[in-house]
Amino acid sequence: MKIRLASSLTRDSIVDGPGLRTVLWTQGCKHHCIGCHNPGTHPLDGGFETSTEEIMETLKTLKLQKGITFSGGEPFLQPEACAEIARFCHNLNWDVWVYTGYTYEEILANNNSLWNEFLEEIDVLIDGPFILEKKDFTLLYRGSSNQRIIDVNLSKKNNKIVFWEQ
Ligand code: SF4
Repeated sequence: MKIRLASSLTRDSIVDGPGLRTVLWTQGCKHHCIGCHNPGTHPLDGGFETSTEEIMETLKTLKLQKGITFSGGEPFLQPEACAEIARFCHNLNWDVWVYTGYTYEEILANNNSLWNEFLEEIDVLIDGPFILEKKDFTLLYRGSSNQRIIDVNLSKKNNKIVFWEQ
């Protein structure tokens, strides 16, 4: 399956979630947050096209990774490809973290089957746009204080938003 990325995989990241992580940078974002740290990821036709198969071939060679983090860009613009990669990572016993400019409530309300398929494979969602007025670089794994680190599995189980705890 085709997927458009902003750059190649980052391995051994320690700033995009707990433990050693691989980061996948999706290309394309429609949120246009003022002060976005990565405006080069906005054009939907930017970056480069590759395939999920190629990414999975690389992922299975990596050692000592606790999980994968989808960032961007907006991963929910390519939900089918992201879901396939996330499922593959779960089979490697990795956990799956995703940054999105949408709120968790917006994703649920959209009730799009492809979004739901991707959400099914997400353990932790860092949600909401970056808001410059709420910028706080002391926050763990977040750029602005409106963003939340949501434990998706516990949120589904409890039918309310439950924040991830370290
Ligand atoms: S959602 Fe993320 S990538 Fe998109 S504009 Fe906002 S900060 Fe930038």
